[in-house]
Amino acid sequence: MKILLLGKNGQVGWELQRSLAPLGELIALDRHSQDFCGDLTNLRGLAQTVQILRPDLIVNAAAYTAVDKAESEPELARVVNASAPGLLALEAQKLGAWLVHYSTDYVFDGSGTGPWAETDVPAPLNVYGHTKLEGEQRIVENCSNQLIFRTSWVYSTRGGNFAKTMLRLAQERERLTVIDDQVGAPTGAELLADVTTHAVRQVMSPVRQRPQDAGIYHLAASGQTTWHGYANHVIRQAERGVNAIEIAAKNVVPVPTSAFPTLARRPLNSRLNTDRLQATFGLTMPPWELGVNRMLAETL
Ligand code: NDP
Repeated sequence: MKILLLGKNGQVGWELQRSLAPLGELIALDRHSQDFCGDLTNLRGLAQTVQILRPDLIVNAAAYTAVDKAESEPELARVVNASAPGLLALEAQKLGAWLVHYSTDYVFDGSGTGPWAETDVPAPLNVYGHTKLEGEQRIVENCSNQLIFRTSWVYSTRGGNFAKTMLRLAQERERLTVIDDQVGAPTGAELLADVTTHAVRQVMSPVRQRPQDAGIYHLAASGQTTWHGYANHVIRQAERGVNAIEIAAKNVVPVPTSAFPTLARRPLNSRLNTDRLQATFGLTMPPWELGVNRMLAETL
């Protein structure tokens, strides 16, 4: 099997390089790749890449993810998050290839307190959410063999992340204020990559092909927390164990979203119902603390 991975150096892309490798020949690109175009703003180049490589599977982990900046760069965000995925869908369809793509709980308006199901009506609050929703729609319209995973609050060991920022601040400051009215599940890039590989194996299995499993799935760790709960968990974990660190912040104060004004509005309710994913692929979503603790063990 030939696999084309786009966005190989993002949080999820990096983990996909690991999880997809045993499935076949993996060609992993980023926007700076020389041999083939992996730049999602170069639609012509991107189409040529697919036409020359003729992959059996395209996995698009590239995205415009700067949520606040997207408010002032809507056209660029739209090209990367909607036009390019739409084009990949058309090219995949021509080849009969599968296309895997990632989307976000930001397609919803964050109202209510229940977990969002795939059948709920999207209503994005910001430019990023609008462009991601348009990307989903273009894929669904143009490609029959597609898997779209909507996720939330992604972190990875590599590079910066919320947990690392909280730990640094908790060592520097005696008092931290953290948002306590946005609810979701921190989801590891590792989990996203591993579930992607399981799902791809199922839908593309030569003995048990499952075209009927195409579509949109919610993919997040189980359980829920707020950013405040997440920060507290991280700090308490870091205080324990052999590599315990000295925490200055005795006080982690919960504050509402309004305490941290941002250019883009954020949904308050980011809970995702993962029943469809678990039932279709026979998987169990682990509690969010499991992945976060692993990430901390690797980081500390
Ligand atoms: P990252 O921001 O870590 O990675 C995105 C990657 O896309 C980066 O490597 C970036 O490259 C690349 N990229 C941006 N613009 C282009 C372009 N024009 N051409 C090629 N590559 C480009 O994101 P994640 O790994 O966290 O996100 C993966 C997916 O999950 C995305 O679809 C995202 O929308 C979705 N998601 C993410 C969430 C999160 O909390 N992070 C939450 C919900 C969904 P460079 O570094 O060079 O800019």
